[in-house]
Amino acid sequence: MCRHLGWLGSVVSVSSLVLDPPQSLRVQSYAPRRQKHGLMNADGWGVGFFDDRSGGAVPRRWRSAAPLWGDTSFESVAPALRSHCIVAAVRSATVGMPIEISSTAPFTDGEWLLSHNGVVDRSVLPQHPMAESICDSAQLAAAIFARGMDALGESIAQIGDADPLARLNIMAANGSRLVATAWGDTLFLLRRNDGVVLASEPYDDDPGWEEVPDRHLVEVDAEGVSLTALNHAKGVR
Ligand code: GLN
Repeated sequence: MCRHLGWLGSVVSVSSLVLDPPQSLRVQSYAPRRQKHGLMNADGWGVGFFDDRSGGAVPRRWRSAAPLWGDTSFESVAPALRSHCIVAAVRSATVGMPIEISSTAPFTDGEWLLSHNGVVDRSVLPQHPMAESICDSAQLAAAIFARGMDALGESIAQIGDADPLARLNIMAANGSRLVATAWGDTLFLLRRNDGVVLASEPYDDDPGWEEVPDRHLVEVDAEGVSLTALNHAKGVR
């Protein structure tokens, strides 16, 4: 499935996270190392970041339905895109899902940027007119936004309970918080001196990368990093 990455920390360029590292998302678009489902991520890419010139709370997105590796315009501009908070993804579309920009992460509610790595049966999700597309990830994003990001862990546990085959790795940020779930696919954490990276897989061979255990929620903010186990929602609904 897809690969995604989130950053919260000092102001850095998008290219320093997405294009420059030896196993960057650009490389992961054609040669991921840890991907459990799908061979490559050629069905589009998206970068979202919070615009520090607008007070740091305005999400801006650049998405494409073409492979990241061939996008020379993005390669030219990415060094000039700078932010303290970034969410980026490369996509391997689930069979039957449309390959179009509106189905490509990150999705937004105007406040949060959100990427989904995985698959979910849309019939277990409440229908939301605000969904950006019929793609399962867009529908899932709308359901999560509607419930509120403070309930992300409960939402994932309940949806995972309703669809036991779902894979529900989420990456989301609002400019001051970065949150992610590991539910069925890989998730790694790197604590750098200048900030924190969460990513589907390491973008280099730094020994500092920590693997997040499955069925966990990771939250990053000015206070630091916290991990919470996500339990099945059975019995608490
Ligand atoms: N199901 C989503 C899609 O089709 C995400 C796929 C993925 O994680 N590769 O875009």
